[in-house]
Amino acid sequence: MGRLEELLDKQRDLGAPTDDGKELAVSGTTLVEQVQDHLNKVDVLQAEIDRGLKSTETENHRLQYDVYSPKIRLLEDARDQLMRANVAAYEKERDQKKQEVEGLYLVVNQVKEILRFLKLETGKSVDINDDDLRTYREKSKEGLGYIFEDEFLKIKLFVIENDKPKNKYSLVALGRTIFTEEQLKLRFHYGIHAHAAYHFQLEAVLREGASVKELREWLQKQSQSKLLTDLKGDFDTVKAAYLDTLERYQVEDFRELLTDLCTCGYFYSIFDSMAFKNGVQTCGRCSNKMEKLK
Ligand SMILES: [Zn+2]
Repeated sequence: MGRLEELLDKQRDLGAPTDDGKELAVSGTTLVEQVQDHLNKVDVLQAEIDRGLKSTETENHRLQYDVYSPKIRLLEDARDQLMRANVAAYEKERDQKKQEVEGLYLVVNQVKEILRFLKLETGKSVDINDDDLRTYREKSKEGLGYIFEDEFLKIKLFVIENDKPKNKYSLVALGRTIFTEEQLKLRFHYGIHAHAAYHFQLEAVLREGASVKELREWLQKQSQSKLLTDLKGDFDTVKAAYLDTLERYQVEDFRELLTDLCTCGYFYSIFDSMAFKNGVQTCGRCSNKMEKLK
């Protein structure tokens, strides 16, 4: 006897009520029939579940892509248009105001420039002594004299021995000026292979060569005006503007903009980073105590 038949027999004998009181075997149906019936019903239900999923997906796809996406796109377009218009309006206003600011700064920057000039030490010597330059480790040095001399800028040439094995000599130009490197827009500042007694605004290695003689000969062949044009930067223009400023203005004309003033003529103005510091300032030029104006 097979296992299933055994089971059916057992059930028949017992009249087998289930837990909830129902008889497992309904009159006239065998367990086999019930199993087949249940499996058929399961198939039907599963098919319904599958159809339900498919139709739900189809409907949701339709809602998302056919119904709502176009509406959302329209709304987004409308929103983007409004936002772009806002940005454009802001930028237009900003640019107008920036232009206004620039206009206002014209005078401010002009005065800044004047103050930069008035702060310079007019009478300061820009002489360069050969002794102001010391070579390292007893290397040789030869002064070739001034190539440019003005009360506000002097440029002197030297040949100094460097550390290289082959081109052992450097032809260098040193420049001293009352102006700053930035004012003159000096293109050369490399730091030469020697020790300077003070800050040179111009330090340029013009050429390197095997001997002093070779460098002297090279120098002879150069156009002096071309060399100077390269070395002097904006000196001529800046000097002219400086002299013009000195003729027209003096520090006292701008007293209201000054924060600290020294008897030597040096000062800090509202444009300086040193301005508005608490306490008495030490003069950046002569180290005396400055008068507090603001
Ligand atoms: Zn001073």
